[in-house]
Amino acid sequence: MSKAAAYALPSADGSFEKVTIERRDLGPDDVLIDIEFVGICHSDIHTARDEWGGTKYPCVPGHEIAGIVAAVGSSVRKYQVGDRVGVGCLVNSCGKCEPCLAGEEQYCARGASWTYNSPVPEETQPGGYTLGGYATQIVVTENFVVAIPEGIDLDVAAPLLCAGITLYSPLKHWNAGPGKKVAIIGMGGLGHVGVKIAAALGAEVTVLSQSLRKRDDGLRMGATHYYATSDKETFRQLRNSFDLIINTVSADLPIDNYLRLLALDGSLVILGLPENPMTVHGRNLAAYRRSLAGSMIGGIAQTQEMLNFCASHGIGADIELISADEIDSAYDRVIASDVQYRFVIDAGTI
Ligand code: NAP
Ligand code: ZN
Ligand code: ZN
Repeated sequence: MSKAAAYALPSADGSFEKVTIERRDLGPDDVLIDIEFVGICHSDIHTARDEWGGTKYPCVPGHEIAGIVAAVGSSVRKYQVGDRVGVGCLVNSCGKCEPCLAGEEQYCARGASWTYNSPVPEETQPGGYTLGGYATQIVVTENFVVAIPEGIDLDVAAPLLCAGITLYSPLKHWNAGPGKKVAIIGMGGLGHVGVKIAAALGAEVTVLSQSLRKRDDGLRMGATHYYATSDKETFRQLRNSFDLIINTVSADLPIDNYLRLLALDGSLVILGLPENPMTVHGRNLAAYRRSLAGSMIGGIAQTQEMLNFCASHGIGADIELISADEIDSAYDRVIASDVQYRFVIDAGTI
């Protein structure tokens, strides 16, 4: 076992505190990573505050990890000490089921191992459940480590490990590209990366945000249109107009209002995961043969593809770098939609 410093939440309503955690000894296929930067995803908050249920404490969140390889196991071939690498939401899967063989490890039939709060054998993570990246080091099997290309700085690359792949995967799956009208609901961590990627894929991008406050940023990032959803006129004006709408909102939304914005055969894809279920009127799907779908991050090969795509298009996240003692206040600001556009913890301060 090796020791790492980490920031953990002791209970759902507690505050983050500095702790020492154990990481497993390096197995033949393992990579030890010195974490340099770790993003704060809204899923960290849902989990840390037990909004989805089942959170184990102490909880160390963090699945937008960028760092440098510090050591490798005897069988590791892909990485060497000193390589720039990332770890996202996944740290293992069965490798044998249909989704795994198709490179969609996030949909593993036996249940993937998530980077934090996921049950694993004691020898995988002392304590019996995974502890994430708000820490100085992590040990991950090499097949779940991705290379961060030289073209992107590690701090702005970190959020791509969750926010980037979560948007890239559905944008590719639903063929966002030239001639396609794509709307992104929510200009937060996921949303702003989605605007950049969708624009780089060649789609015509519209942002649907609560207000026009972040309009200039949205247009700079590649959107052509920007509307406030607080304005009822937006929903009248944009009726039946989009091929694809991606919902990144972390809170409850009147989803019928957004379904009516889809054109014939359009799809609305749910990425945001608020704690409450939503209701949908069948007539808004039947009219215009619309689809309502969802998507969960992306597989490891596609995460590498996304990083290479972002590097070649000069895409990183827009970030606010914080020190580890600012995590609690950063959480409150994320909930208030007051972040431009992703908090990233400088792991050197842990
Ligand atoms: P975030 O940075 O907080 O962004 C969410 C955005 O939603 C906010 O910036 C805000 O955008 C909008 N919003 C917030 N409250 C709202 C409300 N009451 N009504 C309308 N809009 C509201 O969060 P994130 O990290 O991007 O994550 C977003 C959601 O995706 C979370 O639920 C997270 O758990 C989930 N997620 C899912 C996956 C997946 O694989 N499916 C992966 C990662 C995260 P505006 O200010 O522009 O309105
Ligand atoms: Zn995430
Ligand atoms: Zn599997």
